[in-house]
Amino acid sequence: MRISYSSLENFENCPLKYKYSEIDKIKEPKTKEAIFGNYIHRVLKWFYQQDPHFPTLEGLLEYYYNHWPASAKATAGEPKKEEEFVWQDEHEEKDFFQEGMRILEEYYKKNFPPKSMIMDLETRFEAVIDETPDEPGGKHILTGVIDRIDKLPNGTMEIIDYKTGKRMPSQNDVDSNLQLSIYALGLKRKWPKIKLEDLRLSLYFLKFGEKIETTKTDQDLEDTQKKIIGLIHKIQTSSFEPKTSPLCNWCGYRPICPVWRHFYENGSDKEFNGINIEEKIDEYFKLKSDKEQLDDRLKELKNTIEIYSRQKGLKRVFGTNGSFNQEVSHKISFDKNKLKELLEPLGKWEEILAIDPKKLQKVLKEIPPDAREEIEKAKKIEKAYEYLEANEKSKKDWEEDLH
Ligand code: SF4
Repeated sequence: MRISYSSLENFENCPLKYKYSEIDKIKEPKTKEAIFGNYIHRVLKWFYQQDPHFPTLEGLLEYYYNHWPASAKATAGEPKKEEEFVWQDEHEEKDFFQEGMRILEEYYKKNFPPKSMIMDLETRFEAVIDETPDEPGGKHILTGVIDRIDKLPNGTMEIIDYKTGKRMPSQNDVDSNLQLSIYALGLKRKWPKIKLEDLRLSLYFLKFGEKIETTKTDQDLEDTQKKIIGLIHKIQTSSFEPKTSPLCNWCGYRPICPVWRHFYENGSDKEFNGINIEEKIDEYFKLKSDKEQLDDRLKELKNTIEIYSRQKGLKRVFGTNGSFNQEVSHKISFDKNKLKELLEPLGKWEEILAIDPKKLQKVLKEIPPDAREEIEKAKKIEKAYEYLEANEKSKKDWEEDLH
C-alpha cells in the first residue's frame, strides 16, 4: 500500500474523512485556517529560497502583502483564484492578515540571521516499510513532505515542521508525535548514513514563536513502523465510520458527512415522507423541558408530604386521588468468601462476577499505561447497538463553533 503521512493522520482522526479523500477522491474544500497556514508556509519557503541573499524584514513583509490570497486587494475585473474567496468579510480578512504580519515579524526577529545551513525545503520522501514474515501484506510505501531540513554548526541535522494551529502541545506530546517519527524514517531512507543521534526533530509553533524539539532512537523507529503497519491493517478492514471530534469544526466534508449533512440542508430537503423533522425535534425538546419542570414539581411535592408525615408521626397519608406510605428499604451486602464457598460448587460463582464496564473505566484511569494498553487489546465488541442521543445545543451555538 502507498500512503502518505497526512492520509494516516486523517484515518486516525476520522476513518470517514480518510475514505472521502483517499478512496472516493473527493477534494476537500479548504478552510480559511488551512489556506492561511499554507500561505504562511509558502512565504517562509520563498524567504529561505533567497539564501544567501535573504530579504530584509521589509522585503519579507512586502512579499507577504503582495501575494496575500485576498479578495480586498483584487482589482475590479481581475480574475480571482478560488482561494481568494475564503474570507467572510473585510474584518475577518484583516484579522488573518495582521496575524500573519505579526507571526512573520516575530519569526524574522527571532531567526534572522539563520544560525544553520538550509539543506532542503519541502523535501519529499518515501520510506519502505516491510511487514514481518508472520504478518501478511508485504511492503508499504510511506510518503511525506518535510518543510525544512537544516544543518547546524555542530554537524547535527534538524527537521523542522511549521505549525500554524492555535494549540501548543506539551513536550511529551511532541516526543510521541507520529509525524516526526515518520519524518525520521523518511530521512533515514533518503540519507541512510545519517545517525539518529545526529538528528534533531522540531515542530515550530509560529503563533507562539516557540520551537519544541525531540530526538528518536532506533527503538522509537521500530515502534513507529509497527504502529504504521497496525494502522494500515485497520484501514484495510475498516468500515470507515465517522469519528466526531473538535476537528469536525475544520473539516471540509461536513456538507456531505452523515453527521453534519442535515445541518446544511434547506427547508424542502429536510422534509421526508411528509415529516418536518425540525418541528418534531423542537417539539421533543419542548416536551422534555416541560417534563423536567414537572419532575422538579413532583420532587418538591413529595418532599413536603414526607416532612408532613414525619412531623405528624404518620406511616400513611391520604389525598382524594391517592395516598403515600412510609416504607423502609435496606442496603444489603454479603460475605464474599461465604458466597463463593456456596456458589462455586454449584457452578454459579462466575455468573455473578460479570465485569461492570463503568467500574472498569474508573480502574483504567488509575492503572499504569502499559497495563491499560493490554486491557484495551483484550476488549471485544460483542454487538453494536445504534441509539439516538439527544443534545440540547442550539443551532445558533453550533454555527458559532463551526469555521
Ligand atoms: S465532519 Fe467530522 S465526522 Fe464528518 S468526515 Fe469530517 S471529521 Fe469525520
